[in-house]
Amino acid sequence: MAKDEDVTIWDCPKCSTGKLVKRKNKQQEAFYGCTNFPECRYTQPCDEEKEFEY
Ligand SMILES: [Zn+2]
Repeated sequence: MAKDEDVTIWDCPKCSTGKLVKRKNKQQEAFYGCTNFPECRYTQPCDEEKEFEY
């Protein structure tokens, strides 16, 4: 079983020591946040997470 569904992780461009991992905000919108949060508050929108199902 996979731990998580396709979580893309790469180096944080701001602090360069953290990694960007997929998170969700209060609105349940996906975004990428730094693992050094709250020391590093770099975030990046995650547009590909939007799913349209009718
Ligand atoms: Zn960072």
